[in-house]
Amino acid sequence: MSYCVHIGLEIHVHLNTNTKMFCGCRAQFGEEANAYICPVCMGLPGTLPVPNKEAIVKAIQIIDSLQCKLAETLVFDRKNYFYPDMPKNYQISQYRQPVGGEGKFSYYYAGELRHIAIRELHLEEDAGKLVHAESESYVDYNRAGYPLVEIVTQPELRSPEETEAMIRQFHKTIQYLDVSDATMEEGSFRCDANISLSKDAKTLGAKVEIKNLNSFHFVKKALLFEIERQTELLNEGMPVKLETRLWNANKDITEGMRSKEEVHDYRYFQEPDIPEVSISQDVIKAAKEKKLVLPVSRLVDLLEQYRLSEQVAMIFVDEKEFGDMFYRLCESGLEAQAVAQWLAGDLRGSLSVVGSTLGDVPIRFEDLKEFFELLQEELISGRKAKQLIHAMTEGKGSPRNILKAEGWTLITDEVSIKTMAEEVCDTNPTIIEQIKSGSAKGVDFLMGALMRLSKGQIQPQRGKEILQRVVDERTENSR
Ligand SMILES: [Zn+2]
Repeated sequence: MSYCVHIGLEIHVHLNTNTKMFCGCRAQFGEEANAYICPVCMGLPGTLPVPNKEAIVKAIQIIDSLQCKLAETLVFDRKNYFYPDMPKNYQISQYRQPVGGEGKFSYYYAGELRHIAIRELHLEEDAGKLVHAESESYVDYNRAGYPLVEIVTQPELRSPEETEAMIRQFHKTIQYLDVSDATMEEGSFRCDANISLSKDAKTLGAKVEIKNLNSFHFVKKALLFEIERQTELLNEGMPVKLETRLWNANKDITEGMRSKEEVHDYRYFQEPDIPEVSISQDVIKAAKEKKLVLPVSRLVDLLEQYRLSEQVAMIFVDEKEFGDMFYRLCESGLEAQAVAQWLAGDLRGSLSVVGSTLGDVPIRFEDLKEFFELLQEELISGRKAKQLIHAMTEGKGSPRNILKAEGWTLITDEVSIKTMAEEVCDTNPTIIEQIKSGSAKGVDFLMGALMRLSKGQIQPQRGKEILQRVVDERTENSR
């Protein structure tokens, strides 16, 4: 028997602030253990936490991007539990009044725009990090007190595949907002998934939470495994235990970790050391100063306004620097389809050959604009244009300089072309005779000869015009 699947996510995002959430310690990873700690983030008696304005500004930017309701006042709560990585034995979090209320996240899946409801967004501090050696464990408190935003979705996702697609796009959104390093390997973007199976879509089954999902791929694999495990239990008439499970990437299974803690286990109460304050207009203004570009709106724009293919649009969303360049070039008046084709095709291909991307290579906007102008003016052939793009990715300079240095510039001046056209006519008197007697193909033949003579360096349209004039003169004179 198959069941209705309900999947929800809790997404944790480290904010890329200069300092920690409640003290002035640097928020810095990968340095010497316990280099950035102070009495506040160690929770020593007599110290007082002070909320970090930069973190609140960045949280509001996420809130705006999710169309969540912003709370009027900032209230923190203590979440009490003991664990060695948390020196205070409580975490400052938000429980009764999260800073962000209901909202939604839009994403693209199976060829359509979909939405998932966001239940809340709250601000909190991270714990430290335990490092396990062979017979001892060590603790590094550099991460203790890091500003963290937790986003909780409603359990509205219906499949592991859709969940993976959604979380990837959420991650991309955080990168666009530039509020976090968002690297999964370093733990600055983490997510827990909860899943329940039920007989009908309206009711939820027993909720199982899966932790330790440090790659997008694991999210999907763990959920697929859980669906199979829970389906088997339900088919046998056994109850699914309400619990927290861990993904074991070595065995490709989830394993029971602990029975799910209940809210009352945490003995939440309002953080007495931080007074409730209203969120000032100053802070809100600072958050709104930055224009937010969201990947999903960019995707819809590229598909609907610019009529790009889904494949190319996805490239311009996933690789933001290409998308940014596309928009800049289009705004300068160039034709969108041609720009899209060259950026997503040859430019991206050439860059991958030299093992770099647009951001690393000094290909300036001005150079690309010049490249497209050369194409538009037909000053370069299609084949040479490909070589030109490649030369640009190798850092050989501006397009016009490369053309000159390589001798790829097409000949456009009238005198040179006319001289060559005369020569072609002189060496092919029989063709001129054929044209006189009405052969239509004669001119094409001469055009081929002209291109060969110039080694393909004549701009074709210009060459044809001038050749026709020379042929006309000769055929008319003799009449
Ligand atoms: Zn500190």
